[in-house]
Amino acid sequence: MSLLELDDVSTGYGSFRALFNVSLKIEEGEKYAIIGANGAGKSTLLRSICGLLRTENDKIHFDGKPIGQLSPHKRVGLGISYVPEGRWVFPSLTVNENLLVGAHSRRSGMWTVDKVYELFPLLSRLRQRQALSLSGGEQQALAIGRGLMANPRLLLLDEVSLGLAPVVVEKIYEAMPAITSSGTTVLLVEQDVGQAMKFADRVACMLKGRLVLEGVSGEMEHDQIIAAYFGV
Ligand code: ATP
Repeated sequence: MSLLELDDVSTGYGSFRALFNVSLKIEEGEKYAIIGANGAGKSTLLRSICGLLRTENDKIHFDGKPIGQLSPHKRVGLGISYVPEGRWVFPSLTVNENLLVGAHSRRSGMWTVDKVYELFPLLSRLRQRQALSLSGGEQQALAIGRGLMANPRLLLLDEVSLGLAPVVVEKIYEAMPAITSSGTTVLLVEQDVGQAMKFADRVACMLKGRLVLEGVSGEMEHDQIIAAYFGV
């Protein structure tokens, strides 16, 4: 049994359909990346997994249980943590307070405020600063740290590198081995194909709401990826 299983998931916004018949299996401990152009449906897929969008209950299974109708809150309790695109932090709260918010429905586990500061030393010296005064990279680190505070089994990361300088992106990705070596499964969405291939064991490409290519990252051909990404 895989940790996460999507079986023929179709969903959208009102009458607009953004996902078409998506099936996917992710194993415990895996590093998995979804790539695709703007509007391909990557964020919609993550929103369906974390519960911001509902599906039929048995279209999504987590650890063998159907979760498609569960609230996001209940899914956090089961071990699914979502870090949305755009580095959403609570701007008027301090760094420390933002992390404590992430602990609201936490499972027991290794991630604590101190562990997050160890993972991102840059946050440690900013702990009493309001989040609104942080740089983009610091906010991204904080958003990931807040996601970890729930002690997830599955961490969903949406576009962590968007709008950040390459050197900052490197810093964020440097933290990934410490996250995955703790046993946490990571599913991330990334527009930067190179970064996704470097990070992930397996990669899937989305195009216009469909999964059009899936494979082991080291075994995928450049031309094959470009064709799937752009639909040529
Ligand atoms: P991006 O990187 O631009 O976020 P994406 O691959 O994550 O791209 P989605 O955000 O999942 O794509 O969007 C898929 C489709 O759903 C797009 O056509 C988008 O316009 C539409 N969409 C996304 N969010 C909403 C919403 N809240 N209401 C209506 N349509 C939406």
